[in-house]
Amino acid sequence: MTATNLLQTGEIGASVPEQGRPFRVYTQRDLDRITAIRHLPADQRFAMKVVSTVLPFRVNEYVIERLIDWANVPDDPIFQLTFPQPGMLSPEHYAQVADLLRRDASSNIGPSTVEAELDATVARIREELNPHPAGQRELNTPRLPNGDVVTGLQHKYRETVLFFPSQGQTCHAYCSFCFRWAQFVGDKELRIATNEAEGLHAYLRQHRCVTDLLVTGGDPMVMKTRHLETYLEPLLHRDFDHVQTIRLGTKALSFWPYRFVTDPDSDALLALLERLVAAGKHVALMAHFNHWREMDTDICERAIERIRATGAEVRSQGPLLAHINDDPDAWAPLWRQQVRLGVIPYYMFVERDTGAHHHFKVPLVRAWEVYREAIQQVSGLARTVRGPSMSAGPGKVEITGVTEVAGEKVFVLRFLQARNPDWVNRPFFAQFDPQATWLDELKPAFGESEFFFEGEYRERWTGLLH
Ligand SMILES: *Cc1c(COP(=O)(O)O)cnc(C)c1O
Repeated sequence: MTATNLLQTGEIGASVPEQGRPFRVYTQRDLDRITAIRHLPADQRFAMKVVSTVLPFRVNEYVIERLIDWANVPDDPIFQLTFPQPGMLSPEHYAQVADLLRRDASSNIGPSTVEAELDATVARIREELNPHPAGQRELNTPRLPNGDVVTGLQHKYRETVLFFPSQGQTCHAYCSFCFRWAQFVGDKELRIATNEAEGLHAYLRQHRCVTDLLVTGGDPMVMKTRHLETYLEPLLHRDFDHVQTIRLGTKALSFWPYRFVTDPDSDALLALLERLVAAGKHVALMAHFNHWREMDTDICERAIERIRATGAEVRSQGPLLAHINDDPDAWAPLWRQQVRLGVIPYYMFVERDTGAHHHFKVPLVRAWEVYREAIQQVSGLARTVRGPSMSAGPGKVEITGVTEVAGEKVFVLRFLQARNPDWVNRPFFAQFDPQATWLDELKPAFGESEFFFEGEYRERWTGLLH
């Protein structure tokens, strides 16, 4: 029986291993209502309040009940991945916010002055946390030939356009390390969004070099299927034959697999994927996973099975993070499980220099060791994953390894993806630095004054290495 038949007869949905559940979400204001954390020490709960006053927090009942192992809190990786931790703010920032929250709580002279001070302090701290890594905001200005700015688009690499639909500006839960955290803290100015499907389609029509459309967010899977249809269905017209690949970036397989199994419009979503595939598009769900435990539920397996039955691929990517997965034994089982379920390992990222970077960062040399030791444990079929990769201003830079050349200890690096496609796959070298955690902390090896691409990068783009 073909995938189409399975969907039409409803057979794929016939043996759902568990019932759908209502989507119940908790944010900072609801911290006191989360039963699972009531038994935690009061100072730990207060710390959550402090941190989530600055950084976004959102978790749902599925994550709380099915993914977190509460017997292992606070060390549990999924707890670290979703709940605010005291170390996520610097001691100074933490003290400033904690002090204001305490004063706010004990204030009896009308809270408004403390609240105003709190708002100003929080805004200033957020500005200090590099809310726009790698020039995110500057990139957001592609134009049509008539000069109109197309909002919600990024076109950094020749063949791929990123699209941020406005209805996809949230996620089913938030990752505590998210590099797009700034758009979740409610500041409209920080948002990258659009309501306009027309802008997207006009831009794609005029850029025949674009083969890949990458729909991202937030998480486009929080959108109703009918919104996704508005964006994607028109791409079936022959005007868009050059757009061969449609990727949907999502964390829903981890945070809300019901999206593909029991949500009211899950069948319609799968039918949409199926139509795109039938029309000859390559459709790929770019699933964000950080730990094998996120895949260890029946509902997640079921969701993957249903997506793959449409003919769409599932590829996986995710950053390497202290406290969550800086260990080859977190990655090797993840990639093995993915191959078993037909998910293709794609990228391992280095955590970006934004938000709580100081809490999650891992030295580049350690990132390379974790990747290498994990790769050695898995079959060739899982070695499709590339990394560790820094998605920086000039492009995606892979830490290929550490070695010695002419008596100098060096990092060997290469671009996996670059502003100028000609930079890709040329090995280049940086002085070894055991502490370095990001590209802008690296210096060229062999006494060179700059990396081979820097002159051109400065001339044609911003020149900033982060
Ligand atoms: C990673 C990325 C892409 C896609 O690159 P691939 O190497 O094709 O996966 C496109 N645009 C931006 C801005 C990216 O960071």
